[in-house]
Amino acid sequence: MSEKFITVAVRKIVATRARECCEYCRSQLFFSCDPFVIDHIIPKSRNGSDELDNLALACQGCNGIKYNKIMAEDPVTNEIVSLFHPRKD
Ligand SMILES: [Zn+2]
Repeated sequence: MSEKFITVAVRKIVATRARECCEYCRSQLFFSCDPFVIDHIIPKSRNGSDELDNLALACQGCNGIKYNKIMAEDPVTNEIVSLFHPRKD
């Protein structure tokens, strides 16, 4: 079984496109104690790809909370809604 890895060059492209800010909470990489990660907007466990459009720069907090979810309960309406999508929202 082969696993396709995200290259350093792709990480750099994603970070530059995001202006080195988390694409979910907009915190800045420069001021973070923890390294940011490359998030799969549609998780690989849900057949998300390694293409640039599916990759987002994310802080550890946002990446950990989002995990492999694409939907969540809106705390105001209690409806199940799509999570923020950095390319579409
Ligand atoms: Zn964040």
